[in-house]
Amino acid sequence: MEPLFGKTLSELKNLAEKSGLPRYTGKQMADWLYKKHTGSVAEMTNLSKRARETLSEKYTIGLSSPVNVVVSSDGTKKYLFKTPSGHYVEAAYIPEKKRHTLCISSQMGCKMGCLFCMTGKQGFQGNLSTNEILNQIVSIPEKNLLTNIVYMGMGEPMDNPEAVMSGIEILTSEWGFAMSPRRITLSTIGLLPAMKTYMDRSDCHLAISLHSPFDKERKQLMPIQSVYPVEEVIRFVKSYDWQGQRRISFEYILFKGLNDTPVHVKELARLLNGLRCRINLIHFHEIPETPLRAASLQEMEDFRDQLKQKGIFTTIRRSRGQDIDAACGLLSTKKLLEENVEKPKPLSL
Ligand code: SF4
Repeated sequence: MEPLFGKTLSELKNLAEKSGLPRYTGKQMADWLYKKHTGSVAEMTNLSKRARETLSEKYTIGLSSPVNVVVSSDGTKKYLFKTPSGHYVEAAYIPEKKRHTLCISSQMGCKMGCLFCMTGKQGFQGNLSTNEILNQIVSIPEKNLLTNIVYMGMGEPMDNPEAVMSGIEILTSEWGFAMSPRRITLSTIGLLPAMKTYMDRSDCHLAISLHSPFDKERKQLMPIQSVYPVEEVIRFVKSYDWQGQRRISFEYILFKGLNDTPVHVKELARLLNGLRCRINLIHFHEIPETPLRAASLQEMEDFRDQLKQKGIFTTIRRSRGQDIDAACGLLSTKKLLEENVEKPKPLSL
């Protein structure tokens, strides 16, 4: 059975037509899926009986609950989802006083191989469909509390642009969830062709994983530097207007003795000159089999102050969910893959 949830309005209209139903049935289905949150085709009561029967033969809503949850001492929750292909992905729910953020995955694993990232270490098992991406948002108990969505979980969203862009269309369209694009941030390592699509087809915020302003060093940390050098990525983002409400930020994990020197500050200031942006300094959560070490809080504060002196708005991102491996760069289902765990502990909600 094919899932209806995760289809855009035009896909739903085409699907209705193909099923011998009027095209406006597509709009009715979108209402039921994204506004009334219906659980079955049978509940779509303003569709004719024949339409419901026809659709039920081939289609299902297609939502699935998480199979496990772990809760951090700081309240962060890591949800585990099993995909129809038998793989696992994770989403991290991060509650704060006023914001409730969900960090979602866009791929099963990742092929980008960043040196500091656990997801990168587990390799790539495939892309998530739009259905599987959005399912993470609507299938957790906190779904109605969510204020912000960040595409910063497992995978590189711009390596799965079609599914990600359809998801953003559904989240932000009037016929969909009608969510403000200002509540959505997509983080990328800088895959330029897909970034152009993202910039032109959405109004959501952009975050770029920077981590080093120097070519040789960034290549060691992030192999993508050989394909899309950060200098080129920044030239590209500078061609857009950032004076309005749309925001751009740069993520910078501070590694002890590597990318934390005054020379880095100077080069970052040169690179970002003229761009209205922010740098988020991120604490490195050490992972096995890398020579990288985390900078101390004092070192992070010093680095932040030096950047501020150069006129760059810089913040230190508070680390969340570290004790449950839900913090930045720690999401990985590698263990499950290795152990070939078929049935994780059932979730009691
Ligand atoms: Fe992939 Fe992002 Fe991890 Fe790099 S940091 S390996 S792009 S998930």
